[in-house]
Amino acid sequence: MTPVENIIREEIAAGGPMPLDRYMELCLSHPVHGYYMARDPFGAAGDFTTAPEISQMFGELVGLWLAQTWINLGRPNQFNLVELGPGRGTLMADVLRVGQSVPGFLDASRLYLVENSDTLRSAQQESLPGVQANWLSHVTELQDLPTLLIANEFFDALPVAQYQKVGDVWLERVIRVDGDNLAFGHRKTAELGFGMALPDGTIVERSASARRIASEIGALVNDHGGAALIFDYGDAQGSGDTLQAVRGHAYTDPLAEPGLADLTTHVNFGDLARAVEPCAIFLTTQGQFLASMGIAERAETLVRGKGDEARAQINAALHRLTHEDEMGRLFKAMAITRAGDPKPLGF
Ligand code: SAH
Repeated sequence: MTPVENIIREEIAAGGPMPLDRYMELCLSHPVHGYYMARDPFGAAGDFTTAPEISQMFGELVGLWLAQTWINLGRPNQFNLVELGPGRGTLMADVLRVGQSVPGFLDASRLYLVENSDTLRSAQQESLPGVQANWLSHVTELQDLPTLLIANEFFDALPVAQYQKVGDVWLERVIRVDGDNLAFGHRKTAELGFGMALPDGTIVERSASARRIASEIGALVNDHGGAALIFDYGDAQGSGDTLQAVRGHAYTDPLAEPGLADLTTHVNFGDLARAVEPCAIFLTTQGQFLASMGIAERAETLVRGKGDEARAQINAALHRLTHEDEMGRLFKAMAITRAGDPKPLGF
């Protein structure tokens, strides 16, 4: 039994079946044994790979977007440059490299990395040698300044609750102990806002943390100016039960090895959009965003003068990031801006 499963069983013994969001929170972020607390899960040797780990092109275009947005904001002479859940720090390293070529951009920035894993904070520090960065646990700790914020595959890692229509009532899905195993069950819920028109068995996901963090970002942008750029898999609305567990680049049972597998859900961008009101949002696919930011031209520049192997690698990365059967369509890009600000680059 994993250490996290022990903790879960104790909590269930004391308080009864556990809501899914609490289960995910313990699996991912238990201070000692949580998935992100104890390991660096990225890359070929890890459990999964993310866009910035696939190619420098991703971070370079995000850097370009940030610098251009800063220029459009009238080049504020002080602003928060923020990344949520920076993983290994690869994306920010690429952003800062590009940022150097835009006079004044880095000098005006105050860099904040919002990260709750000490293991990953160390990895980020290593990826950003000589960079003056500040680590935070919450967006609310930021100073009152114009804010440019990025997040890649952060929101999918936040805990969700699930509700299911069973006959003519809505119940919350919970985790219970079933002999040697953990199993799904139901409990009564006060959440009634889903309507009775949906078919029997329908599952709806809600992430209180995602909504809270989105509303904190919305408040920052609305009150002090700035913009945010968020990438993740998901859609403009929920799509039923999207809970998935990944270990060693393969899917596994989300209840089988608590704390040892990555647990995620698809992001409901509509929920995020409602939470950032009155800010404006722009939503498109990752493929369309990267294409309109010039990823094909960037790839062409990178392959020039390279050998066959390097060329093949760059072209494979381009395909993976943008093709609709790869990350191009399932992954979305969402920008958050102050209502009335011009349409951001790439949308
Ligand atoms: N952006 C990176 C990593 C994505 S994985 C990349 O694209 O490679 C999710 C990241 O969010 C990890 O760094 C994880 O430790 C962090 N994280 C997850 N939940 C968090 C929370 N509640 N607060 C702060 N960081 C969190």
